[in-house]
Amino acid sequence: MKYSSEAVERAIQELSRLPGIGRKTAQRLVFYLLKQPEAQVQQLAEALIELKKKVIHCSICFNITESDPCSICTGGKRDRSMICVVEEANDVLALEKTGGYNGLYHVLGGSLSPLDGIGPDDLRIKELLARIDETVKEVILATNPDTEGEATALYLARLLKPMNVRVSRIARGIPVGADLEYADEITLTRAIEGRREY
Ligand SMILES: [Zn+2]
Repeated sequence: MKYSSEAVERAIQELSRLPGIGRKTAQRLVFYLLKQPEAQVQQLAEALIELKKKVIHCSICFNITESDPCSICTGGKRDRSMICVVEEANDVLALEKTGGYNGLYHVLGGSLSPLDGIGPDDLRIKELLARIDETVKEVILATNPDTEGEATALYLARLLKPMNVRVSRIARGIPVGADLEYADEITLTRAIEGRREY
């Protein structure tokens, strides 16, 4: 059903483009927003615009940041001999929350998925290889434990091993098929601690 207000219809359409939001939920959100004071809706709109204006990718690790390089890459207390490779910036957040890892990161921007047309050139793999120098002693492959994540880890291990660096894979504490970002902190800490040479 379409609404008599074009503005309502447009807001519903825009919101229902978001992941996990169907038309019904979008409608509920729009009617909620209509009831809110204008200042509050303004704040929401400004927060969304600021998000796109201020948030960039770190040019070293590709984590999201407001300053380039990010605070992890420039952090004086980080262990620069370790790089933990993850699929998305969300995974960095999840691992940082555990407090159990103090090395650097590299965000691939996804996983290899031939069916979706995502090949090695679509991920930040060249950029990862370019970071491997004599200070890097270990690369921890922390891609998700699903088919694409495992294929990506295998692909990276083959490229990294001849580069004179220890390559490890996080332990199987995380349920197969689950996303790293949804694992609880204890499981994630165990997965990092129990990593095995690949
Ligand atoms: Zn960074």
